[in-house]
Amino acid sequence: MNSKKREPIAICTWAFEKANAAAGAALSQGMSALDAAIAGVAVEEENIKNTTVGKGGAPDREGNVTLDACVMDPTGNCGAVACVEGYTNVAALSKKVMTDTPHVMLAGQGAEEFAAKKGFTRDRLLTDDSAAAYKEWLKTSEYKPIINIENHDTIGMLCMDINGDIAGACTTSGLSYKMKGRVGDSPIIGAGLFTDNEVGGAAATGMGEEIMKSVGSFLIVELMRNGMSPQDACKEAVMRTIRKNPDYKDFQVAYIAMNKRGETGSYCIHPGFTMMEYKQGDNRRIPSNHYISKE
Ligand code: ASP
Repeated sequence: MNSKKREPIAICTWAFEKANAAAGAALSQGMSALDAAIAGVAVEEENIKNTTVGKGGAPDREGNVTLDACVMDPTGNCGAVACVEGYTNVAALSKKVMTDTPHVMLAGQGAEEFAAKKGFTRDRLLTDDSAAAYKEWLKTSEYKPIINIENHDTIGMLCMDINGDIAGACTTSGLSYKMKGRVGDSPIIGAGLFTDNEVGGAAATGMGEEIMKSVGSFLIVELMRNGMSPQDACKEAVMRTIRKNPDYKDFQVAYIAMNKRGETGSYCIHPGFTMMEYKQGDNRRIPSNHYISKE
């Protein structure tokens, strides 16, 4: 830890303005980077209008809402949960896995039993709106997990606190109408999220399968360790996917990153992705550079 106080920073995927502002305000009041990131993403986990994170998230193709999340702290410790039903605050639950178990990840029923034991409140995550949308989807059962940003909008958040320490959280309901049991990149440390307090952090959103194949967030942090700016590192991670997968036009992959100096960046395949950045009390929406110039 540094003795000199730093200007806190919060960044997150997409235009989750309130979530980022909440994290920024918490950091300004001296909250740790990890707790601020968890408090920030909780705003979207609890937002029932958001159909891609937490309560109100779109279900899988059997009608069950299953959530994935992970967190990583400045010491390099991390926790994650996958395929959790009936609990909204899965980023906070991931922290409990990190602090109160000898493990990094709990999945499914085991994670749910652990949540109950830790006093998390059980809830019905399928809202009337998402149940109605699901009923509509059942008419065709068409599964097109392509670039439609409304089908996948994970919140990944990176925070730097007043001590200059970096941590992050990532939480999602995954791809809408995914296969039962499907888990994406978001709870996978290194894929959906990675932080290293000596270097910086990165978080991902988009087609989880592609992000997992390149371990994108870890890649970005390692590129920054070797001297790349957050912006260039995000671009290089997207380019790895583009070079390897000729079908890259059919899906979105997007990254955000922050380094230890507080510089930030983002990059994605398709236009439409934005990042929120809280710096010096100002919460700004920053459109991301993208590989494909026009749809
Ligand atoms: N990456 C998430 C997943 O594949 C979805 C998203 O970010 O939109 O589960």
